[in-house]
Amino acid sequence: MSGETILKRFPLSLEETERICRAHPTPFHLYDEESIRLNARRLLAAFSWNRGFREYFAVKATPNPFILSVLREEGFGADASSLAELVLSERSGITGESIMFSSNDTPVAEFAKASELGAIINLDDISHIPVLERACGIPEVISVRYNPGRLRAGSAIMGNPEEAKYGFTREQVFEGLATLRDKGARRFGLHSFIVSNELNAAYLADTASMLFELARDVKDRLGIRVEFVNMSGGFGIPYRPEDAPLDIEALSAEIRARYERTVVPAGLDPLALYLECGRFVTGPYGWLVSRVLHIKRIYKTHVGLDACMANLMRPAIYGAYHHVSVLGKEDRLADSLYDVTGSLCESFDRFAVDRELPEISIGDLVVIHDAGAHGHSMGFNYNGKLRSAELLLRGDGSVLEIRRAETLGDHFATLDFSKLGKFSEDGRADARDTEGRDGRR
Ligand SMILES: *Cc1c(COP(=O)(O)O)cnc(C)c1O
Repeated sequence: MSGETILKRFPLSLEETERICRAHPTPFHLYDEESIRLNARRLLAAFSWNRGFREYFAVKATPNPFILSVLREEGFGADASSLAELVLSERSGITGESIMFSSNDTPVAEFAKASELGAIINLDDISHIPVLERACGIPEVISVRYNPGRLRAGSAIMGNPEEAKYGFTREQVFEGLATLRDKGARRFGLHSFIVSNELNAAYLADTASMLFELARDVKDRLGIRVEFVNMSGGFGIPYRPEDAPLDIEALSAEIRARYERTVVPAGLDPLALYLECGRFVTGPYGWLVSRVLHIKRIYKTHVGLDACMANLMRPAIYGAYHHVSVLGKEDRLADSLYDVTGSLCESFDRFAVDRELPEISIGDLVVIHDAGAHGHSMGFNYNGKLRSAELLLRGDGSVLEIRRAETLGDHFATLDFSKLGKFSEDGRADARDTEGRDGRR
């Protein structure tokens, strides 16, 4: 394989995977519990210098209660942004201030549920203050989401902060915090989320600096001592084998240096640092496993899988690179050029375009890497595609089904076919009436 720096690893051999396929037909998502745990520990260890450090796993990345329970056991909280994610956090044993509720355009009922769970509410807009007050009262602890606008350059996926719908302007942060204090809030946090899949450590450290400086300015202008800053998620992973992974220990050391430079002299130490990483935590430790159904040779050669973009839509919607490997052929020469496609009636339903791979045969198992975050969770049912199963590879080598595959029954569960007979009869009667009226005219 040419010029690769990282070997993209799948934790099972072809034989082991075929054995799993007998009980769990492809396509399915598989997650490696042990690797997720080790990565979680590494993240916590890297930031252990910070008193009060917390990681709130972004539930939307991998909303499965078994994954959330693993992360809870490792000491993570949950970052929820909808009613379903709040309930999923609760059902996974995560409650109280271990939940960060970072929503936007928020339905009132969701503020009420977050409040009932004792979650930390991270407000997206200054106009939500009276809405929250009416819905459940202003809580003792509250966070506000900051959008730096033109003060910060944008990134590829998130776009320019000034164009984004999220957060308070700088002036609104001061006004909002003062209002919240007047209404009885006592403990305050600042949040900002302006990057996605960022592998540039300096840019991430700049987000920490930005929040440290804002906390200093809030103290100077309002006399409010902020308890935590939440630099949220967006930590990147190396989707391409040649990408340099984020050196989390070096990033943490850089953030610590900036903390010493800004937070300590401002008299704000200890200031807790919070993260809401999703992708960084589980992304590299999940795979989409699929089987080759067809090989079609027209102007290009198309490898047709039994998975499609309903199982993993990042390549189709962002043109994102996901590494592809063929089980049992890892050591063969990648001397064939393929488009790897799914079965959706959409021409952009492709996992890879012009990809050099070993020669593929019908029936081969194809693994799509780095699908552990924003993978299954972004799935959908267009074209009547059914959501796949999720499997957890445990430390002892056993495999646990943590979500079964959807059935046609699930897919049609919201339709009442029994009403169809009467509907058709009424339709025929209406048609006769219309003919009659037309005839009289
Ligand atoms: C999506 C999201 C995250 C997680 O983003 P990753 O790219 O998975 O790290 C964190 N916080 C908020 C508010 C989000 O919407």
